[in-house]
Amino acid sequence: KEKVPSDIEIAMEQTPKPVLQLAREVGLLPDELESYGKYKGKVDLSVLERLQHRKNGKYVLISGITPTPLGEGKSTTTIGLAQAIGAHLCRPAFACVRQPSQGPTFGIKGGAAGGGYSQVIPMDEFNLHLTGDIHAVTAANNLLAAALDARMFHEATQSDKALYSRLVPVKKGKREFAPLMLKRLQKLGINKTDPNDLTPEEIKRFARLDVDPLTITWNRVVDTNDRFLRKIAIGLGDAEKGHQRETGFDIAVASECMAVLALTTSLQDMRERLGAMVVATSKHGDAITADDLGVGGALAVLLKDAIKPNLMQTLEGTPVFVHAGPFANIAHGNSSILADRVALKLVGSEEGDPPGHVGYVLTEGGFGADMGMEKFCNIKCRVSGLTPDAVVIVATTRALKMHGGGPEVTPGKPLADTYTREDLVTLNEGTKNLVRHIQNSKKFGLKVVVAVNRFASDTPAELQLIREQALAGGADAAVVSNHWAEGGVGARELAEALVAACESKSQFKFLYGLNLPIEEKITIISREIYGADGIELSDLAKQQIETYTRQGYGNLPICMAKTQYSFSHDPKLKNAPTGFVVPIRSVRLSAGAGFLYPLLGDMQTMPGLGTRPGFWEVGLDLETERVVGLF
Ligand code: ADP
Repeated sequence: KEKVPSDIEIAMEQTPKPVLQLAREVGLLPDELESYGKYKGKVDLSVLERLQHRKNGKYVLISGITPTPLGEGKSTTTIGLAQAIGAHLCRPAFACVRQPSQGPTFGIKGGAAGGGYSQVIPMDEFNLHLTGDIHAVTAANNLLAAALDARMFHEATQSDKALYSRLVPVKKGKREFAPLMLKRLQKLGINKTDPNDLTPEEIKRFARLDVDPLTITWNRVVDTNDRFLRKIAIGLGDAEKGHQRETGFDIAVASECMAVLALTTSLQDMRERLGAMVVATSKHGDAITADDLGVGGALAVLLKDAIKPNLMQTLEGTPVFVHAGPFANIAHGNSSILADRVALKLVGSEEGDPPGHVGYVLTEGGFGADMGMEKFCNIKCRVSGLTPDAVVIVATTRALKMHGGGPEVTPGKPLADTYTREDLVTLNEGTKNLVRHIQNSKKFGLKVVVAVNRFASDTPAELQLIREQALAGGADAAVVSNHWAEGGVGARELAEALVAACESKSQFKFLYGLNLPIEEKITIISREIYGADGIELSDLAKQQIETYTRQGYGNLPICMAKTQYSFSHDPKLKNAPTGFVVPIRSVRLSAGAGFLYPLLGDMQTMPGLGTRPGFWEVGLDLETERVVGLF
């Protein structure tokens, strides 16, 4: 058997076509593409209006079984399928994937552009700055953080009157409220528009947000695995007059601004969501938002280009949108609604098309189906109003054997024997994990296609066993796919099965209604998806649920923050565990993105670098100016 070269070697071998040509091929008008260099471009949202009359293409979610830390090939399968449908079945196909964070790229995971002969190219640009969207998210997040600390400082060091006259200064002989100040006055129930009319009592209520420092939930962010920023003290300089506090940094993609970018449906919607983001509670118990701080408009300005999906291509020249990359545990971990919507129109059909003309959008959800698919259905689809036609569940012998009792799989360490030779007993036991994911998908009324992502050491009997168990477990189809080693042609059979599954309509439904109490929504997910007996709320969580319900956030969907390595909250409980109760430590609010997120364990929002990070391998070939060592 020929050896498959490294991901970056394969990616660098292929010269991408110019993005202008790609844009033309997918049916974009010249005005609708802003190119960023030769091979990437941003797509203007006006295309949605131009193609409004079109019927959407088929909408497919790519999800997976409970993974090992090595990843089981969801991205690779998304790209492989897009290549198979687009380049081999010759139907319109778009892959929609997330933009990776530079944290993991230089940390342990490496790139996220797929792998083998199923990749997005240029893979170095994909994995590094792309078109700067993550930088824009960082800028917006940190502007809000700076606004909050500066405001608290000024409130603490000035009288009501001085504060008011600086907030509403005399300009050209006149005091005038900024537009966002009128919004705040409205919120306070003060129906006045002339700054000179406010009573001293009203001036105090208007000028003082009275942030309770203990309730601040807004951190600063940076897109580097920088563990020493997890907990920091700020305000140590003399000029800050002793107004110090402890805070911390998260990785940029964990910012709520990123979750907003992924869930927004238009520029106006994004503006409203950014303004509605809650950063703290006041001493009087009110939620304090970005608009209260006057910064919502500026945040929208910083993100106005980031909202446009980025067009790239696969190794076989089919189109890909790379857009948004919200953290998959504390946020919903799916690529953007806008990328999916534009793609669904671009591959869609209109009157006069030949019968049966339909294209496919393959969008990826992070982690296993208990996380990515559940959040895709209950959060993303609820906002977008789109309904998926099918879900592809990616499975590997490696992960199933681990669930069946195989030893831990650790990055950087050689795989144990079980994983490289035939072991039908362990594998068979582990298929219970796959079956539970299949049955969970059925609860959303989805068609389920299982993709067995083939590894070189898999034996025919093993692959056959997974297929049989998947079908017995309720899958509509189960197909072995070899796209990593062969590219699109290796996923042809999988693509055909998917096309067949999408033929009849699926009966999509949500798992819970939004109007149920918060506790009940969390219980439904825990019972129905995780297989838990129930949940146990900490006192803190109970108190937070009470606060958010009182503040009017009780009817948001739930975004569970949980380990990806188990159906349960405990990464050690492999396979399809039962007989456990899910402990909810605390519940947090993302008011702008539009969800509540219960924390089920210690969720790390700033990864660290190990002793031997991936960056040791990364470098520039100075002769060709090519990036080497990304994997
Ligand atoms: P996920 O999206 O599920 O995290 P990826 O698609 O990123 O997983 O794949 C994880 C890693 O495994 C990548 O480095 C990829 O190249 C590799 N990989 C995926 N499928 C195969 C396969 N069939 N054989 C060998 N390596 C694979």
